[in-house]
Amino acid sequence: MADDGRNNRGRFPTPPSQLQRDLFLAFVEKTGEPEKYALLSTTAPDKTATGHRLVCPFYVPRAKRPNHDYIPCSACAGRKKYCYGYLVWCPDGEIRIVGSCCGPEYFGIEKFRQMEAVAKEERLELENQYFLIDNLERVPDMIAAIKRLAPVCEKYLMVRDALNTRLPSFAALLKNTQKDQGGMLTVVRRKSGTLSDGPSGFRGDDGGQQSKYESEQVAPIVAAGFLKERFYPEKELACVIKDLESLAVPDALDAVSGMPRHELKARTQLFKKCVSRGNELREQLLHLSGFFSDEQLRGWTTWGQHPDNERRLNIAVSDQEIRISYSFREVLTLKKEWLLAPAALSSFSPT
Ligand SMILES: [Zn+2]
Repeated sequence: MADDGRNNRGRFPTPPSQLQRDLFLAFVEKTGEPEKYALLSTTAPDKTATGHRLVCPFYVPRAKRPNHDYIPCSACAGRKKYCYGYLVWCPDGEIRIVGSCCGPEYFGIEKFRQMEAVAKEERLELENQYFLIDNLERVPDMIAAIKRLAPVCEKYLMVRDALNTRLPSFAALLKNTQKDQGGMLTVVRRKSGTLSDGPSGFRGDDGGQQSKYESEQVAPIVAAGFLKERFYPEKELACVIKDLESLAVPDALDAVSGMPRHELKARTQLFKKCVSRGNELREQLLHLSGFFSDEQLRGWTTWGQHPDNERRLNIAVSDQEIRISYSFREVLTLKKEWLLAPAALSSFSPT
């Protein structure tokens, strides 16, 4: 078996397959002695040749070595130097093991970085293939799950419009509170008194007598995500469905095996994006039921009835409806059935 393999007469005319790689790694795991793998060449790799490939990294702590020593390195004439190394395929058709610290030194930093970059690309390609084979078959189910959100989208828009048109001042107050007061509904109390301490510059013109305002935080705004402006659930829903439909294939294994690397990458990214956008949409729609929850209405009532609150907010809840009136002029009546978050809102995640 020639080791100077310019004629490609080695034992691996092409880089090891994934199975061959896994066999090597299993051997390393079992024995702790990668150097005893029968198919390795022990001669130094030809660093002038081009096309070396990093097949896989491996690691053996010294405690797992039968003699607690380091692993010998083919690039260093068999000297024992490392615990962390690479299985390298060489253009002479042989595979060798090289210490991770020797790799850049022996092959040259530039060349070694290039080998690492190629290895990373190959690893990603494989990961994307597995990911898509596992997940593309779930696309029809995901489309169905997303479509089940459509009625909730409609109700979301209806309720958001109703809040903004029927209770415009209260809606504006909630939005400002969310933005400026950290989401706490507050009341302001006016206190008169003498300022006996503090720098004189802070005193009023009346020579020490001045009004002092105190604000009290009364209730938090729950599920404030509901107030988010520039959220267009129906548009987002249609976009996610369209993207998912573009991913649908009759047979995932078939489709993936013939797919070029850049397409594997693009489809993997698109799938992941659909998952996160679908989940975000779902999260956002869930705010609909939380926003008019019992907890929220209790907080608003406490705030509306606070003795220091000059604004008038009244809430009446019946079996079917919630009626909110604000400042005597603004009234919103909501049907409770609009606010239920359907069971269809289960989240989905890639396998
Ligand atoms: Zn070495």
